Amino acid sequence: MSWFKRESGEYESGAGPEGGADANGRTVRTEGLWTKCVGCRQIIWKADLEANLNVCPKCQHHFKISARQRIDLLLDPGYELVDGGLRSTDPLNFTDVKSYKSRLRKAQEQTGLDDAILNAVGQLGPHAVVVSAMEYGFIGGSMGAVVGETIARAVDRARLDRKPLIVVAASGGARMMEGVVSLMQMAKISTALGQLDDAKVPYICVLTDPTTGGVTASFAMLGDLNIAEPGALIGFAGPRVIEQTIRQKLPEGFQRAEFLLEKGFLDAVVQRRDLKAYLIRALSFLQA
Ligand SMILES: [Zn+2]
Repeated sequence: MSWFKRESGEYESGAGPEGGADANGRTVRTEGLWTKCVGCRQIIWKADLEANLNVCPKCQHHFKISARQRIDLLLDPGYELVDGGLRSTDPLNFTDVKSYKSRLRKAQEQTGLDDAILNAVGQLGPHAVVVSAMEYGFIGGSMGAVVGETIARAVDRARLDRKPLIVVAASGGARMMEGVVSLMQMAKISTALGQLDDAKVPYICVLTDPTTGGVTASFAMLGDLNIAEPGALIGFAGPRVIEQTIRQKLPEGFQRAEFLLEKGFLDAVVQRRDLKAYLIRALSFLQA
């Protein structure tokens, strides 16, 4: 049974990104195999993208990756996930267009995580490290009590075990559904990082697209080294809010990693494929 009757004999277009037809008019299922790059607007084969660490092979646009993919990318096989099992209690019983409880439940189902953070311990080449990676797919990587507590635990673990700490930031900022509780996490993590600094254990923050709001305003900018992936959006407030406040047009590329590197806010912009080698070299230097 067919759903539509074709008037002319031939299809106009061949197999496109969302599927099409071959020469015999049979439908070719290509749905989900192709994706359009947001950087260069070209169609890329998903397998090529995945084989290239989710970086566009044509324009080097760095796509977002999950916390788990990030840990797989950085740590050698055999790492251990730690500090899991914390879940938000919705302290304000918050509801906007949807209840916060239902948002949490949906995000937990979609990501398989308890919240927007994953801690791991393992080997980064020759270095035993603690990694804390944020999950942007979980309510925009927003930082509530669970994210704050989990990162603080990673910091404490790094200090007590004297293992360098790597935090991979990817966040829209503080989680407004937890109000002031989410803002308190900035102070909590920063205090723990102060203790880590006193103990002279290295901390490197990797800022990925996007790192904004209270995350930028606290731990993401407190590393011994703060490095970013190419093209990452990094800032505190959004450009529209800033333009309205200072009544000036913002320069081109404002709040992108390369601009921030030029202005001295970052130590390096590192391609994803070079990230692990860069971190190994940096940790060897910091611990020498
Ligand atoms: Zn591209």
